[in-house]
Amino acid sequence: MVSPVVFVISAVFCCIVLPGPASCVDPQRIQQQILSYQSVADQIIQRSVYGKSQNQSYERLATFVDKYGSRLVGSQNLENSIDYMLNVLKGDGLENVHGEEVTVPHWVRGNESATMLQPRVHPMAILGLGSSIATPPEGITAEVLVVKTFDELRKKAGLAKGKIIVYNQDWVEYGITVAYRENGAVEAAKVGGLASLIRSVASFSIYSPHTGIQEYNDNVTKIPTACITVEDAEMMYRMSQRGEKIIVNLKMEAKNLPPVKSRNTVAEIKGSTYPEQVVLVSGHLDSWDVGQGAMDDGGGAFISWQALSLIRQLGLRPKRTMRMVMWTAEEPGHVGAIQYWQRHKSNVSNYDLVMESDGGTFTPTGLGFTGNKAATVIMQGVLNLLKSINASKMTTPADGGDVANFITAGVPGANLNNMNDKYFYFHHSNADTMTVQDPHAMDLCSALWAVVSYVVADMDQMLPRDNAV
Ligand SMILES: [Zn+2]
Repeated sequence: MVSPVVFVISAVFCCIVLPGPASCVDPQRIQQQILSYQSVADQIIQRSVYGKSQNQSYERLATFVDKYGSRLVGSQNLENSIDYMLNVLKGDGLENVHGEEVTVPHWVRGNESATMLQPRVHPMAILGLGSSIATPPEGITAEVLVVKTFDELRKKAGLAKGKIIVYNQDWVEYGITVAYRENGAVEAAKVGGLASLIRSVASFSIYSPHTGIQEYNDNVTKIPTACITVEDAEMMYRMSQRGEKIIVNLKMEAKNLPPVKSRNTVAEIKGSTYPEQVVLVSGHLDSWDVGQGAMDDGGGAFISWQALSLIRQLGLRPKRTMRMVMWTAEEPGHVGAIQYWQRHKSNVSNYDLVMESDGGTFTPTGLGFTGNKAATVIMQGVLNLLKSINASKMTTPADGGDVANFITAGVPGANLNNMNDKYFYFHHSNADTMTVQDPHAMDLCSALWAVVSYVVADMDQMLPRDNAV
């Protein structure tokens, strides 16, 4: 029989050491504890936004992306850029700096072109989609069938055989419209299409093709697939509405080579009291082979470095470990993060909070968050420490991305919310360069990232969670 005294002790133990149920948390005490971090939060903000570290994350990122440019998965250039990161992270005084090996796909673009031959000759800007196969060397020359939706394609299936299928889908939002990029080739092949050309998944265009990953289905014939500009997709749609016959020649030399090794880049500030417990901040280092990958996701990766860097510069050491991960191979489908999860999931109960920034580092507004009620109240309290920079708003749920597996397993998760309405102007295009980035916005993002990760890592208890594993 368990005596009342033992019960009380075990309940207290549960509150202090383990991520316990919501009833374990004394909300008033925790809110007081959070308020006690206001001065350290102000110190972090001061240093990042106005003090000695002003512009630092922007300048570090500019040096990096000007040196390496884009960093396609499978390329030697990505591996060279990871070597560079491991060096500079060590040089910055961070701890346990290392690469964790990951097996990644190796797709190369090769030369590619698309030319409209009828009703007039018009060379089109294209970008082959990641994982696409090549055309025969002479290319595919065929009449075009233009559709706006998958439904329309299925209705016109009788007209599709032997044609190049052009999608002129409307922009709704990325999560919806991206289906045409991801599945356009498979749906076109199902009705006998020879190739597919997809209107770029972009909210704005100045004649810019936007690449990205696409997915074949093993049971459907693989056909070459590329994105075209919004302008050309709309023009071909208008021509087809007028009943004009459109003929296009598409040439692609893309190759899928055997998988190669890459690395997730890891650095830490070891916790003083619970070093085995982790607050993880992250972004991804790989990019598409266009532009500089400065926005997607150089910004997210470098504010994650800056979060740890600011804490180190201020001579702070939280109770738990702050771990930064720059993921590799996010673009072909979270490949680096999935292998990190496989390697570390047995330790999931020690992950206090997982954070990801992969939606731009424009002026921050706060966090997207997934966690139970008690954790949400605590995180709102932590975000309130950022009122002086107007970055205290919380939305739910978090946009998981590379940390989705941890969140699904019950670990509280957060993503950076920022004023990214122009994100899909630049995403996966040649315009994703340092010119998109703003030093002041990056300073604000870094401050938010550092304050949240430090405070959560230093609080007496881990964030509560319902389904502790
Ligand atoms: Zn990204």
